[in-house]
Amino acid sequence: MAKLKCAWFDFACCEGCQVELTNYGEPFVQLLEHLEPVEFREVMSEKTTGPIDVAFIEGSFTREADRRRLEEIRARAKVVVAYGSCATSGGINALKNHMDDYAGEVYGADKDRPHLNSAKALPVSAAIKVDYEVRGCPMDRDELLRIVQQVVHGTAKVYVPSYPVCVECKRRETVCRYDDGEYCLGPIARAGCGAPCPADGIPCEACRGLAEQPNQEAMVKVLVDNGKLPQQRAENLSRMFTANFRGDA
Ligand code: SF4
Ligand code: SF4
Ligand code: SF4
Repeated sequence: MAKLKCAWFDFACCEGCQVELTNYGEPFVQLLEHLEPVEFREVMSEKTTGPIDVAFIEGSFTREADRRRLEEIRARAKVVVAYGSCATSGGINALKNHMDDYAGEVYGADKDRPHLNSAKALPVSAAIKVDYEVRGCPMDRDELLRIVQQVVHGTAKVYVPSYPVCVECKRRETVCRYDDGEYCLGPIARAGCGAPCPADGIPCEACRGLAEQPNQEAMVKVLVDNGKLPQQRAENLSRMFTANFRGDA
């Protein structure tokens, strides 16, 4: 079977998802038995302008120039995969959608420099049709692998759970962060990652977005009452990766 020509593109992001993929080790090497990278900024200097089989897109859509570039990629690619929370939901970048003067707060006197001019941080799907999404910050490598298997071998559609991370956390019998006097967003976070953060003693921050029918109001109350966080900190934390999920971006 001929290898699929694949290109990785980045928009507004930290490129941590590309790095995450290169850190995958042996499974990434095995992927190369099926994929032929023709553009991948973190690992090669070659560029491509020709047709591609799969475009992997990282980062948020934040300006009209992005739209033109995304449309050009879409026109060349048979399959488009958005990967990482920046690309699938706007991710942490979407926090700026709720700030009156984010550029001033972040860049101070430099805020009017042309390259800092951007609009709201949105998912790639706000500009072009996306065929597959891989959630997480950084993206879930196993989920990406399953999607590549689906594209290459036509295996069954990759299942993404709609229940909360707490379900997976309980399955692996992790002690709840709240029992250790800490906080966690697991009750409203979408599962599928296997709850690695609480297992490592770190609170879940819902990097995969929201579970189905999340009760965000109750979550903030729990963060305050049980997690002992100040009200404002609890509100900010509850939207860290989910600012665009509230439908008010
Ligand atoms: S999803 Fe996270 S790791 Fe990936 S590019 Fe965005 S900020 Fe970086
Ligand atoms: S540690 Fe977090 S994910 Fe695990 S059960 Fe507690 S609240 Fe849920
Ligand atoms: S446990 Fe929470 S923060 Fe950690 S990977 Fe899963 S969804 Fe993301």
